[in-house]
Amino acid sequence: MTNYHQKNVVIIGGGPAGLATALMLAKRGWKDITVLEKRPSADYYEPDKSFSYQIDGRGQKLTDLLDITDKLADLSVPNTDFYFTIIQKDGTRKTTKLPIADSKRKTAYWLPRASFVELLYQEIYQFWQDSIQVFFNTECLEIKQHPEYLEIITQSQNGEQLTFIPNLIVGCDGLNSIVRHTLHEMEGESNLFAMQKFPSPSAGLKYKVLSLPPQFPLSEQAGDVAQSTMAYAIRSAFKERKKAISLGLLPFKNPHQPRTANIITYPEHQIWQLETPAAVAEFFKAGFPQLPIEKIITPEEIARFTSSDGGKFPMPQYCSGLYQIFGKPEDNQGTAVILLGDAVHCFPPDIGQGVNSALEDIYVFQETLAATEDNLSQALPRYQNLRQADIKALIRLVQISYPWQYNQDQLQKKLWSVNFFVRLILNRLLPFLFNSHSFLLIQNHELSYSEILAKSQRTTQFLAMLGGLAILILIWSLSSCFKSFWL
Ligand SMILES: Cc1cc2nc3c(=O)[nH]c(=O)nc-3n(C[C@H](O)[C@H](O)[C@H](O)COP(=O)(O)OP(=O)(O)OC[C@H]3O[C@@H](n4cnc5c(N)ncnc54)[C@H](O)[C@@H]3O)c2cc1C
Repeated sequence: MTNYHQKNVVIIGGGPAGLATALMLAKRGWKDITVLEKRPSADYYEPDKSFSYQIDGRGQKLTDLLDITDKLADLSVPNTDFYFTIIQKDGTRKTTKLPIADSKRKTAYWLPRASFVELLYQEIYQFWQDSIQVFFNTECLEIKQHPEYLEIITQSQNGEQLTFIPNLIVGCDGLNSIVRHTLHEMEGESNLFAMQKFPSPSAGLKYKVLSLPPQFPLSEQAGDVAQSTMAYAIRSAFKERKKAISLGLLPFKNPHQPRTANIITYPEHQIWQLETPAAVAEFFKAGFPQLPIEKIITPEEIARFTSSDGGKFPMPQYCSGLYQIFGKPEDNQGTAVILLGDAVHCFPPDIGQGVNSALEDIYVFQETLAATEDNLSQALPRYQNLRQADIKALIRLVQISYPWQYNQDQLQKKLWSVNFFVRLILNRLLPFLFNSHSFLLIQNHELSYSEILAKSQRTTQFLAMLGGLAILILIWSLSSCFKSFWL
C-alpha cells in the first residue's frame, strides 16, 4: 500500500467536477483534501449559469459510486416524465411526452446546475468534513514552479493570501483553467496543454438566461400557470430571421424555484443590439403577445438582463495532455497534476455531455487509482492512456451529433432530421448493418465515446457505399435507356 492518506491534494475549482473529485478521493480514504472555489458559495445564483443538467447513465456511474443517485433522483425530474409544451404566438399549445427511443436506457435526471453543485457540497458538509475543506471566495492566482514541486498562491475576497504545496493538484477550474495555462507555459514549445479547437455550427451562438417567477401566469385567465415539472418552448410572433426568438424552459422538480428561460441565438440577432431596459421590455411585449409579459418579467429582471453580458457557446476543444508530474510525489517530494472536466474538454451543450463527461473522467481516474493502489506516478499516465482517445472522440461527436438544434438554418435542420430518421429506420430493419444516429447512441452509457464514434462512422461508410451504388445503378439504367432508344 502507498501512503496516499498522508498526501495532500488541492483541487482548483469547486464546480461539479471539483466537488465530485473531492468526494471520490475522500471515499478512497484520502484525508487531506482542499477545494478552492472563487465563487462565494455552492448554491450561489449566477443568472447566466442557471442552466440545467441531465445526469445520464454515464454520469451516474460516479453518483452510484458516491452513493448519491437516490438523492439526485429526489431533486430531479426523470427523463421518463419529461413533458414539453410548445406555445405558439397565437397562444395555441401542444403538449408532448419526450419519446424514449431506447426503453432499456437508464433513467436520466434533470436538475438545475446549482442544485447539483449544492447536492455535492451538502454531501461533503454532512459526511466528509474531516477529510475535505472547501474554501469559497478563494481564487487561485498563480501556480509557481520550483525545481521539484509546484506551489499554489491564492487570494480570498478579503485580500488574504494563502499558499499550498500539495502532492496532487487537480485542475477542475473549467474552460479558462489556470492549471492548464500554467502547464502550457511550463511546457514551452510543446502543444500538449494547448486547446485544439474545432468548428461547429453551434459554436459562437450567444445566450442569456431570463429569470421568471415560479409558476408564472401563462395567460390572463385565473389559475392558468406554468407547471414547474413541464418544459416549455414559447415561440415569438416575430418572423424575420434576426428577430424571431424562442424562450426555452427546462423542467424543475422544486415548484417554488424561479424558472429560467434560455435565449440562444446568433450574435447578430436584434435582441443583443438592444441597449436600454425600455427597448428590451418593448421587444418582449411585442414578441410574446400570447403571454402576460408585464406580470412575468419584473422591471428589475429586464434591467439585469439588459446589462448582463451573457455568454457564447465555445468551440468544441480539448487538449491532449491530461497530466504532468514534477519531482517524486510518491515520496512526498514533488507534485502530480491532473486535469478533469471542462479544463480539458469543452464544447457547446448540444448533446448534454458536459457534466456527464466530467463525471466519467473522475470515474476513470478512480479506476486508475484503484488499479495502482493510489500510486500517482502510475495512475496518472494510465488515466491519460485510457481517457485520451475517448476525449478526442467526444469532441468529434459534439461536432456531428446535433449542432443544428438552435434554429440557425431551417434547411440544415431538415437535412439533419432526414439523416437521423434514415439511420433510425435502417437500424430497426437491419441492426447488424446499421447503427442509430450518434445523438441516440450517446445515451447508451455502456458504450465509450470512441465506440460510439466508430459505430457512427461505420454507418456513414455503409450509407456512402449505398449512395454510390444507387448512383451507379441510375447511370447504368439511364445509359441502357439511351442505348435502346438509339438502336
Ligand atoms: C449555457 C450552457 C449550457 C450548458 N448546458 C449543459 C447541459 O445541458 N448539460 C451538460 O451536461 N452540460 C452543460 N453545459 C456544460 C457544463 O456546464 C460543463 O461541462 C460542466 O459544468 C463542467 O464542470 P466543471 O466542474 O468541469 O467546470 P465548471 O462548471 O466550469 O466549474 C469550474 C469551477 O471552477 C471555478 N474556478 C475557475 N477558475 C478558478 C480559480 N482560478 N480559482 C478558484 N476557482 C476557480 C469556477 O468558479 C467554477 O465553479 C452547459 C454550459 C453552458 C455554458
